[in-house]
Amino acid sequence: MPTSRKPIISGNWKMNLNHFEAIQTVQKLHYSIPKEVFDKVDVSVHPPFTDIRSVQTVIEADDLDLLLGAQHCHWDDKGAFTGEISPAFLAKLDVKLVVCGHSERRDLFGETDEMVNKKVHAIFKHGMTPIMCCGESLDEREAGETEAKVLTQVAAGLAKLQADQVASMVIAYEPIWAIGTGKTATADDAQAVCKAIRGAVGAQFGSDVAAAVRIQYGGSVKAGTTVELMAQPDVDGALVGGASLDPDEFSRIVQFAAD
Ligand code: PEP
Repeated sequence: MPTSRKPIISGNWKMNLNHFEAIQTVQKLHYSIPKEVFDKVDVSVHPPFTDIRSVQTVIEADDLDLLLGAQHCHWDDKGAFTGEISPAFLAKLDVKLVVCGHSERRDLFGETDEMVNKKVHAIFKHGMTPIMCCGESLDEREAGETEAKVLTQVAAGLAKLQADQVASMVIAYEPIWAIGTGKTATADDAQAVCKAIRGAVGAQFGSDVAAAVRIQYGGSVKAGTTVELMAQPDVDGALVGGASLDPDEFSRIVQFAAD
Protein backbone atom coordinates (compact mmCIF):
# COMPACT_ATOMS: atom_id res chain seq x y z
CA MET A 1 0.00 0.00 0.00
CA PRO A 2 1.24 3.58 -0.58
CA THR A 3 2.86 5.14 2.47
CA SER A 4 0.39 8.04 2.27
CA ARG A 5 -2.33 5.82 3.73
CA LYS A 6 -1.67 4.93 7.34
CA PRO A 7 -2.71 1.32 8.02
CA ILE A 8 -5.55 0.82 10.45
CA ILE A 9 -6.14 -2.33 12.48
CA SER A 10 -9.45 -2.51 14.33
CA GLY A 11 -10.50 -5.03 16.95
CA ASN A 12 -14.20 -5.85 16.94
CA TRP A 13 -14.90 -7.58 20.22
CA LYS A 14 -18.54 -8.25 19.35
CA MET A 15 -20.51 -9.37 22.47
CA ASN A 16 -17.41 -10.53 24.37
CA LEU A 17 -15.51 -9.29 27.46
CA ASN A 18 -17.25 -7.54 30.36
CA HIS A 19 -15.94 -4.18 31.54
CA PHE A 20 -13.40 -5.71 33.96
CA GLU A 21 -12.06 -7.98 31.23
CA ALA A 22 -12.07 -5.05 28.80
CA ILE A 23 -9.84 -2.96 31.07
CA GLN A 24 -7.33 -5.79 31.44
CA THR A 25 -7.38 -6.46 27.70
CA VAL A 26 -6.65 -2.87 26.60
CA GLN A 27 -3.91 -2.50 29.20
CA LYS A 28 -2.26 -5.75 28.15
CA LEU A 29 -2.67 -4.90 24.47
CA HIS A 30 -1.11 -1.47 24.82
CA TYR A 31 1.73 -2.83 26.92
CA SER A 32 2.54 -5.46 24.28
CA ILE A 33 2.78 -3.01 21.37
CA PRO A 34 6.05 -1.03 21.16
CA LYS A 35 5.38 2.70 21.40
CA GLU A 36 6.87 3.53 17.98
CA VAL A 37 4.43 1.15 16.25
CA PHE A 38 1.59 3.59 16.91
CA ASP A 39 3.30 6.14 14.65
CA LYS A 40 2.98 3.65 11.81
CA VAL A 41 -0.43 2.06 12.46
CA ASP A 42 -3.75 3.30 13.81
CA VAL A 43 -5.17 0.80 16.27
CA SER A 44 -8.79 0.87 17.39
CA VAL A 45 -10.71 -1.29 19.84
CA HIS A 46 -14.48 -1.70 19.62
CA PRO A 47 -15.78 -3.04 22.94
CA PRO A 48 -19.42 -3.76 23.81
CA PHE A 49 -21.34 -0.62 24.82
CA THR A 50 -21.29 -1.53 28.51
CA ASP A 51 -17.47 -1.38 28.46
CA ILE A 52 -16.99 1.88 26.60
CA ARG A 53 -16.95 4.25 29.58
CA SER A 54 -14.47 2.02 31.42
CA VAL A 55 -12.18 1.70 28.41
CA GLN A 56 -12.38 5.45 27.75
CA THR A 57 -11.30 6.13 31.33
CA VAL A 58 -8.28 3.81 31.01
CA ILE A 59 -7.25 5.26 27.64
CA GLU A 60 -7.42 8.79 29.07
CA ALA A 61 -5.90 8.08 32.48
CA ASP A 62 -3.01 6.00 31.15
CA ASP A 63 -2.62 8.11 27.99
CA LEU A 64 -2.86 5.04 25.75
CA ASP A 65 -2.38 5.39 21.98
CA LEU A 66 -5.43 3.25 21.25
CA LEU A 67 -8.43 4.73 19.47
CA LEU A 68 -11.77 4.04 21.12
CA GLY A 69 -14.40 2.55 18.82
CA ALA A 70 -18.00 1.38 18.91
CA GLN A 71 -19.66 -1.49 17.06
CA HIS A 72 -22.75 0.34 15.80
CA CYS A 73 -25.13 3.20 16.60
CA HIS A 74 -28.52 4.62 15.71
CA TRP A 75 -28.79 7.51 13.27
CA ASP A 76 -30.89 9.81 15.46
CA ASP A 77 -29.41 11.83 18.31
CA LYS A 78 -32.11 10.83 20.80
CA GLY A 79 -35.68 9.63 21.06
CA ALA A 80 -37.99 6.67 21.56
CA PHE A 81 -35.70 3.91 20.30
CA THR A 82 -35.54 1.43 23.18
CA GLY A 83 -32.18 -0.27 23.43
CA GLU A 84 -30.53 1.83 20.75
CA ILE A 85 -27.38 3.90 21.10
CA SER A 86 -27.10 7.58 20.19
CA PRO A 87 -24.12 8.65 18.08
CA ALA A 88 -24.12 11.89 20.10
CA PHE A 89 -23.58 9.91 23.30
CA LEU A 90 -20.73 7.95 21.72
CA ALA A 91 -19.03 11.17 20.63
CA LYS A 92 -19.39 12.48 24.19
CA LEU A 93 -17.41 9.42 25.37
CA ASP A 94 -14.64 10.34 22.95
CA VAL A 95 -15.39 7.46 20.60
CA LYS A 96 -13.42 8.02 17.39
CA LEU A 97 -14.57 5.25 15.06
CA VAL A 98 -17.90 3.48 14.68
CA VAL A 99 -18.42 0.25 12.75
CA CYS A 100 -21.61 0.26 10.70
CA GLY A 101 -23.20 -2.24 8.36
CA HIS A 102 -21.39 -5.24 9.85
CA SER A 103 -22.84 -8.37 8.24
CA GLU A 104 -24.00 -9.62 11.65
CA ARG A 105 -26.07 -6.43 12.03
CA ARG A 106 -27.37 -6.77 8.50
CA ASP A 107 -28.21 -10.49 8.72
CA LEU A 108 -29.30 -10.87 12.35
CA PHE A 109 -30.86 -7.45 12.99
CA GLY A 110 -32.19 -6.49 9.57
CA GLU A 111 -29.98 -3.50 8.80
CA THR A 112 -30.48 -2.33 5.23
CA ASP A 113 -28.20 -0.33 2.93
CA GLU A 114 -30.42 2.69 3.56
CA MET A 115 -30.03 2.37 7.33
CA VAL A 116 -26.27 1.98 6.95
CA ASN A 117 -26.15 5.18 4.90
CA LYS A 118 -28.13 7.05 7.59
CA LYS A 119 -25.66 5.80 10.21
CA VAL A 120 -22.67 6.88 8.14
CA HIS A 121 -24.12 10.42 7.94
CA ALA A 122 -24.90 10.43 11.67
CA ILE A 123 -21.38 9.26 12.59
CA PHE A 124 -19.86 12.10 10.55
CA LYS A 125 -22.33 14.60 12.00
CA HIS A 126 -20.86 13.90 15.43
CA GLY A 127 -17.24 14.17 14.33
CA MET A 128 -16.49 10.44 14.33
CA THR A 129 -15.22 8.19 11.54
CA PRO A 130 -17.31 5.36 10.09
CA ILE A 131 -15.89 1.93 9.36
CA MET A 132 -18.48 0.88 6.81
CA CYS A 133 -18.64 -2.87 6.16
CA CYS A 134 -19.59 -4.67 2.99
CA GLY A 135 -19.27 -8.24 1.82
CA GLU A 136 -20.83 -11.14 -0.04
CA SER A 137 -22.34 -14.41 1.15
CA LEU A 138 -20.97 -17.79 0.06
CA ASP A 139 -23.91 -18.27 -2.35
CA GLU A 140 -23.24 -14.88 -3.92
CA ARG A 141 -19.55 -15.67 -4.22
CA GLU A 142 -20.22 -19.03 -5.86
CA ALA A 143 -22.67 -17.36 -8.26
CA GLY A 144 -19.93 -14.92 -9.33
CA GLU A 145 -21.78 -11.99 -7.77
CA THR A 146 -19.13 -10.79 -5.33
CA GLU A 147 -18.28 -7.50 -7.01
CA ALA A 148 -21.87 -6.66 -7.89
CA LYS A 149 -22.99 -7.22 -4.29
CA VAL A 150 -20.11 -5.35 -2.68
CA LEU A 151 -20.19 -2.39 -5.03
CA THR A 152 -23.97 -2.04 -4.61
CA GLN A 153 -23.51 -1.91 -0.83
CA VAL A 154 -20.68 0.60 -1.15
CA ALA A 155 -22.58 2.91 -3.52
CA ALA A 156 -25.65 2.86 -1.27
CA GLY A 157 -23.62 3.40 1.89
CA LEU A 158 -21.79 6.38 0.44
CA ALA A 159 -24.92 8.09 -0.94
CA LYS A 160 -25.05 11.88 -0.47
CA LEU A 161 -21.65 12.09 1.23
CA GLN A 162 -19.14 14.85 0.50
CA ALA A 163 -15.88 13.86 -1.17
CA ASP A 164 -13.80 14.91 1.87
CA GLN A 165 -15.93 12.71 4.11
CA VAL A 166 -15.38 9.66 1.91
CA ALA A 167 -11.65 10.40 1.78
CA SER A 168 -11.49 10.32 5.59
CA MET A 169 -13.49 7.16 6.21
CA VAL A 170 -12.72 3.47 6.37
CA ILE A 171 -14.42 0.79 4.29
CA ALA A 172 -14.13 -2.79 5.51
CA TYR A 173 -14.45 -5.57 2.95
CA GLU A 174 -15.61 -8.62 4.88
CA PRO A 175 -16.71 -11.70 2.94
CA ILE A 176 -19.48 -13.09 5.14
CA TRP A 177 -18.34 -16.69 4.67
CA ALA A 178 -14.97 -15.79 6.18
CA ILE A 179 -16.23 -14.09 9.37
CA GLY A 180 -15.65 -16.23 12.43
CA THR A 181 -15.29 -19.37 10.33
CA GLY A 182 -11.52 -19.72 10.17
CA LYS A 183 -11.73 -19.43 6.38
CA THR A 184 -10.05 -16.43 4.80
CA ALA A 185 -10.12 -14.97 1.34
CA THR A 186 -6.77 -15.41 -0.36
CA ALA A 187 -4.66 -12.27 -0.37
CA ASP A 188 -5.21 -12.09 -4.15
CA ASP A 189 -8.98 -12.30 -3.77
CA ALA A 190 -8.99 -9.68 -1.00
CA GLN A 191 -6.85 -7.42 -3.16
CA ALA A 192 -9.14 -7.85 -6.18
CA VAL A 193 -12.24 -6.81 -4.24
CA CYS A 194 -10.50 -3.96 -2.39
CA LYS A 195 -9.20 -2.69 -5.73
CA ALA A 196 -12.72 -2.82 -7.18
CA ILE A 197 -14.03 -0.85 -4.18
CA ARG A 198 -11.30 1.78 -4.63
CA GLY A 199 -12.12 1.96 -8.32
CA ALA A 200 -15.81 2.53 -7.60
CA VAL A 201 -14.97 5.24 -5.05
CA GLY A 202 -12.75 6.88 -7.67
CA ALA A 203 -15.48 6.77 -10.31
CA GLN A 204 -17.95 8.44 -7.94
CA PHE A 205 -15.74 10.85 -5.98
CA GLY A 206 -12.52 11.27 -7.96
CA SER A 207 -9.03 9.83 -7.91
CA ASP A 208 -7.79 11.85 -4.90
CA VAL A 209 -10.60 10.45 -2.77
CA ALA A 210 -9.90 6.92 -4.02
CA ALA A 211 -6.23 7.35 -3.14
CA ALA A 212 -7.07 8.53 0.38
CA VAL A 213 -9.87 6.22 1.53
CA ARG A 214 -8.64 3.37 3.71
CA ILE A 215 -9.92 -0.12 2.94
CA GLN A 216 -9.66 -2.94 5.46
CA TYR A 217 -10.05 -6.66 4.91
CA GLY A 218 -11.92 -8.63 7.55
CA GLY A 219 -12.61 -12.34 7.92
CA SER A 220 -10.68 -14.65 10.27
CA VAL A 221 -7.54 -12.49 10.14
CA LYS A 222 -4.71 -13.88 12.26
CA ALA A 223 -1.12 -12.84 12.77
CA GLY A 224 -0.05 -15.52 10.31
CA THR A 225 -2.13 -14.05 7.47
CA THR A 226 -1.42 -10.39 8.11
CA VAL A 227 1.88 -9.93 6.27
CA GLU A 228 0.59 -11.23 2.95
CA LEU A 229 -2.64 -9.28 3.29
CA MET A 230 -0.88 -6.03 4.13
CA ALA A 231 1.45 -6.47 1.14
CA GLN A 232 -1.53 -5.99 -1.18
CA PRO A 233 -1.60 -2.50 -2.69
CA ASP A 234 -5.28 -1.84 -1.95
CA VAL A 235 -5.48 -3.43 1.52
CA ASP A 236 -4.85 -0.77 4.17
CA GLY A 237 -5.59 -2.73 7.29
CA ALA A 238 -7.82 -5.29 8.93
CA LEU A 239 -11.05 -5.52 10.88
CA VAL A 240 -10.34 -8.33 13.32
CA GLY A 241 -12.95 -10.21 15.35
CA GLY A 242 -11.92 -13.36 17.22
CA ALA A 243 -8.18 -12.71 17.15
CA SER A 244 -8.65 -9.26 18.71
CA LEU A 245 -9.82 -10.86 21.98
CA ASP A 246 -6.30 -12.20 22.55
CA PRO A 247 -4.00 -9.22 23.25
CA ASP A 248 -0.86 -11.15 22.25
CA GLU A 249 -2.29 -12.26 18.90
CA PHE A 250 -3.81 -8.84 18.21
CA SER A 251 -0.53 -7.16 19.10
CA ARG A 252 1.29 -9.39 16.57
CA ILE A 253 -1.26 -8.44 13.89
CA VAL A 254 -0.68 -4.75 14.65
CA GLN A 255 3.10 -5.13 14.56
CA PHE A 256 3.03 -7.05 11.27
CA ALA A 257 0.89 -4.28 9.80
CA ALA A 258 3.57 -1.76 10.81
CA ASP A 259 6.41 -3.55 9.01
C1 PEP B 1 -15.46 -9.30 12.36
O1 PEP B 1 -15.95 -9.37 13.48
O2 PEP B 1 -15.70 -8.33 11.64
C2 PEP B 1 -14.62 -10.40 11.91
C3 PEP B 1 -14.01 -10.29 10.75
O3 PEP B 1 -14.50 -11.48 12.74
P1 PEP B 1 -13.39 -12.65 12.64
O4 PEP B 1 -12.05 -11.99 12.56
O5 PEP B 1 -13.58 -13.44 13.89
O6 PEP B 1 -13.69 -13.43 11.40
